[in-house]
Amino acid sequence: MKHLPIFISIRNKPCVVIGGGLVATRKVSSLLDSGAHITVVSPVITQEIQQHVATGKLQHHSRVFLDSDLNDAYLVFAATNSREINRHIGKLAEAKHQLVNIADDPDNCNFVLPSVLDRSPVVIAVSTGGASPVLARQLRMQLEAMIPSACGRLAGITEEYRKKVKSFFPKQTQRKQFWENALKGPVSELVYAGQEASARLHLDEMLEQGLETSPMGEVYLVGAGPGDPDLLTFKAVRLMQQADVMVYDRLVSQPILDMANPEAERLYVGKQKDDHAVPQQKINDLLVEKAKQGKRVLRLKGGDPFIFGRGGEEIETLTEHGVPFQVVPAVTAASGCAAYAGIPLTHRDHAQSVTFATGHLKDGTINLNWEQLTQANHTLVFYMGLSGISEISKQLQLHGMSANMPAALIEKGTTRNQRVHIATLATLPEKVIESGVSAPTLTIIGEVVKLHDKLNWYQPERHVKETDFSLHNT
Ligand code: SAH
Repeated sequence: MKHLPIFISIRNKPCVVIGGGLVATRKVSSLLDSGAHITVVSPVITQEIQQHVATGKLQHHSRVFLDSDLNDAYLVFAATNSREINRHIGKLAEAKHQLVNIADDPDNCNFVLPSVLDRSPVVIAVSTGGASPVLARQLRMQLEAMIPSACGRLAGITEEYRKKVKSFFPKQTQRKQFWENALKGPVSELVYAGQEASARLHLDEMLEQGLETSPMGEVYLVGAGPGDPDLLTFKAVRLMQQADVMVYDRLVSQPILDMANPEAERLYVGKQKDDHAVPQQKINDLLVEKAKQGKRVLRLKGGDPFIFGRGGEEIETLTEHGVPFQVVPAVTAASGCAAYAGIPLTHRDHAQSVTFATGHLKDGTINLNWEQLTQANHTLVFYMGLSGISEISKQLQLHGMSANMPAALIEKGTTRNQRVHIATLATLPEKVIESGVSAPTLTIIGEVVKLHDKLNWYQPERHVKETDFSLHNT
């Protein structure tokens, strides 16, 4: 390790920046965040530094550098555009045992500024020892995506409870156990979801219960989106990676399952070869049972859990049993498929509203308000509509929709196997048979389907069969 990473307090300490260009400006802004007493020495300064001078945040000497500028400085930044002057400053500072950073000259610095992820009081610093500041910034941005934005608030609440926890648990090992349980359980997630009052209540309950009672687990009802793993939310990925048990069904694609905690117990509740899915009530009970064992249970759902996902039923059972849970929304099949097929669901000229409906056939019929669905300038999206496609086509025509209304069947939308089949309202049933389309498939009906040819830039041919989404990323 070339440098020892330390976090030092420089509040109100004299720090001097020699130079007034862009590099100096960056150093100044890092310093400002830490409350240092800053002096900039340079005949010319950027507008940003001028503003800081005007608002009294720093001092400025408008002249060239003098050796005496280093006098009692705690940190020295040499950021002039002359390498010689910078080196001269470096040598002077070294001789005085000061900490000095020289712009663009890592070998002659005795400290470097890391790239910083600030979730105060949590601060993560990334350094490449000056080898590649760009790489350090990129790594920091990756961390930015992984570390919840409310991580600092969680640290704040932890601090607030330190004394209280100490009074309940005199031994250090007990306190460690308590915090491990608390931070692994619902407390962190409550804070991340902005529910700090509930997090405090939960901590108080945990203190009252002591360490003997096994902590209650929780259920994460997480939307996995329509298929492309890149469409997952940050929150979904985080919860997938910390779950102890994973309950999933057929609509969740393999690349997404691969992203979950490899150690998690995996329970498949979708349709088996004999075509029998685990009944909903059994799934609800399973979630409760696992959570009561103290497990963090991930219930992964295709698309969004609250759109034809029976998410509502699952959380009802959880509430009845006092199991904490959270619901994570996701891209639903309608928006995912529409975007990846170049069919905007609304459009100034073609559709001012859109309906998501279920095309699920029950006793040979679909219970929908067909009159409402056939209004003009409206887009219809049918989930689960394959088996009921003849009924959908028939009813919409009976209620006045033109037989020529454009329609699209989007099969395995947003995945590498996406196929888009274009038809009209009248030809939809025959298109389903002739194309051999299989589930999951989404049906979009409306004028907006006409835009598919024009907007589907990565599928230049009409009625194209395969879509290679790697094109998307080039
Ligand atoms: N909760 C899910 C919908 C579940 S209902 C969501 O928000 O997307 C299941 C139906 O969703 C399927 O029958 C199909 O119509 C649609 N669907 C889900 N994923 C799909 C995909 N990748 N491509 C096309 N249709 C999909």
